[in-house]
Amino acid sequence: MLFDSHVHFGDWDGKVPVETLYRKMMDEMDENGVDRFNINVCGRCPSSPGALRLADALWFKRRQPSRVTVFGGLDWGGATDGGAAPLIPFRTQLDRLKQVGCDGLKLLHGKPDRRKELGHPLDGDLCEPIYAWLEENDWSCVWHVADPPEFWNEATTPLWARRNGWWYDATHPPKSQIDAEARRVFAAHPGVRFVLAHFFFISQDLQGASDLLDTFPNLFLDLTPGVEMFHNFRKTPEAARDFFIKYADRIVYGTDIGMGAHTTGPKRGWMVRHWLQSGETFDVPDDLYMLPDDRTELTGIALPDDVTNRILGANFAAILGADSPRLLDAAALRDLCRDLLADAEASGLHDEAAHLLLAELA
Ligand SMILES: [Zn+2]
Repeated sequence: MLFDSHVHFGDWDGKVPVETLYRKMMDEMDENGVDRFNINVCGRCPSSPGALRLADALWFKRRQPSRVTVFGGLDWGGATDGGAAPLIPFRTQLDRLKQVGCDGLKLLHGKPDRRKELGHPLDGDLCEPIYAWLEENDWSCVWHVADPPEFWNEATTPLWARRNGWWYDATHPPKSQIDAEARRVFAAHPGVRFVLAHFFFISQDLQGASDLLDTFPNLFLDLTPGVEMFHNFRKTPEAARDFFIKYADRIVYGTDIGMGAHTTGPKRGWMVRHWLQSGETFDVPDDLYMLPDDRTELTGIALPDDVTNRILGANFAAILGADSPRLLDAAALRDLCRDLLADAEASGLHDEAAHLLLAELA
């Protein structure tokens, strides 16, 4: 079973029709032989003021109920720039995500630009109710914490990332601070199954990754590029292979397919799988979020099938548990879409998926 734990769906600008994006996603998943995939909803904050794109993911799930799961996102309005509290309390938002039929939570507030905008520590009082709710409700969470260390220096940031504005200066919290805040959350909420996106950006330090997984038994690492992780593993291929075999139950397949209104290249899923399964050296596929870079080749680590089977599907299915995919609640979904539309109208935004869902549920 091939289960992609980390894809995105929707256009922040609301310009590309939902049906167009749907077709692109389904074609790519079919071509890749993906059995199930998990749409990550990144949440909404003032610096990315598009619609929440929650309706998009739920609309997709309604159309592909056995194939799609949704990790919902939060509206951070009111909480950013050190604001006192979110406009809608996090617990209320989380209750609603559960009620409509989401399968888990996506958090992006650890990404350095988001963390800077938030103006609160990840382990502070403002965010604490989120983690407490996750623990009380036995919900899993894909959490993006920090970014590759080289992104804190413009000179060492790869060109593709600089083009996306993904490099940081002294106004951003340093990686060490963001990591330390997250580690205090792991320690305070050891029951939460956090899937740390992009290998927690710790691929340059496999001993550190090993210590992290040994200390916190409910943490997992996803393989969503962050292509730098594969470049880092190439420096010590035997140590990387040993790590993947030792922690075969703690690593999950992900791709970020669909990011940026599906502007990701068509071969990133193949790239991750080929790296796991083959021992070949191959070119980094063309992709807005992986090239240009000085490093243009990867070398696979040829893992045995029993290891790749767990990483490519079984692990994430186990993280979600037996009641996933959760059923959508039509009445709750209608209420949510009405609220999303009212919010979009008040903000001068277009939420096509909320319109579509309301029409379908009428
Ligand atoms: Zn992502």
